[in-house]
Amino acid sequence: MTAQLLDGRAIAREVEQEAAAEAAAITRRYGVSPCLSAILVGDDPASALYVKRKAEACGRAGLRSETFHLPATTTEGELLALIGDLNARTDVHGILPQQPMPLQINPRAVFEGIDPRKDVDGLGPANMAALFIGRPNLVPCTPAGIMLLLQRTGLDPKGKEAVVVGRSIIVGRPVALLLLHAHATVTWCHTRTADLAAHTRRADILVVAAGKPRLVTGEMIKPGAAVIDVGINRVDGKLTGDVDFASASQVAAWITPVPGGVGPVTIAMLLRNTVQAASGQLRSSHIV
Ligand code: NAP
Repeated sequence: MTAQLLDGRAIAREVEQEAAAEAAAITRRYGVSPCLSAILVGDDPASALYVKRKAEACGRAGLRSETFHLPATTTEGELLALIGDLNARTDVHGILPQQPMPLQINPRAVFEGIDPRKDVDGLGPANMAALFIGRPNLVPCTPAGIMLLLQRTGLDPKGKEAVVVGRSIIVGRPVALLLLHAHATVTWCHTRTADLAAHTRRADILVVAAGKPRLVTGEMIKPGAAVIDVGINRVDGKLTGDVDFASASQVAAWITPVPGGVGPVTIAMLLRNTVQAASGQLRSSHIV
């Protein structure tokens, strides 16, 4: 079998166009463009590139964006003070602190400091709790993008065995909850899982978010599975996923490429979340 590609770039373009149409409608209605404030702390080149790509995507879709670039020595208190200012600004609808942050800053404290209505990464406690109880509001962008990739490819998780490798707050946990809400039977794997391959081989839908280049190989995959490779690893100067694409694509029916799979839809979902956040805030501020 040679797998078909789950084309993240094409689906991201669709979502971007939809977000652009909604942003234009908001601007017509309220005279205000949805606005994303990104915060970059330190000089990590990969983080700087992600923030730049997000700002470019905002520009393409007609959203306003601004980037605060803070020095690597910024304290947690200084970052929380900026977030407090952004929470109070009515012209800012989404706040996005780029991860990873320097060690002196606790990311949980940062996400807890964001007004839940502006938490467009969906990583604060209110949005996480909403997801947990099955009433999602602003959903973390990568997991939301993975679900959209499946949905727009016609891959319904209902009744399927879904296996998620990784249990991080940003990807593994929320995507497993979303798969559960979509009626898959879900298994979570992590570093203490005794026999990883025994689990991955049962998966009709396999999501790999471990940050370990080529952790999952073709012999660990069920023939006909849909494989979502979230990993972004730089190996010998090249981007490599957590799945060994060459062997996996001989066994799977569907597979995401790296790059060009989950990455683009993640950015598109950020636009969608920002538009959704702006719409909610502007609607409530216009109710008298
Ligand atoms: P993370 O916070 O480091 O979490 C990795 C998870 O994988 C942990 O739960 C860890 O288990 C598990 N794990 C690591 N090695 C494993 C192994 N050998 N067997 C089984 N489980 C293993 O990473 P993350 O933030 O979730 O990111 C994962 C990957 O996705 C990274 O490559 C990251 O760059 C990428 N990513 C991509 C996007 C995108 O837009 N495409 C977005 C976010 C992240 P324990 O909990 O037991 O430690």
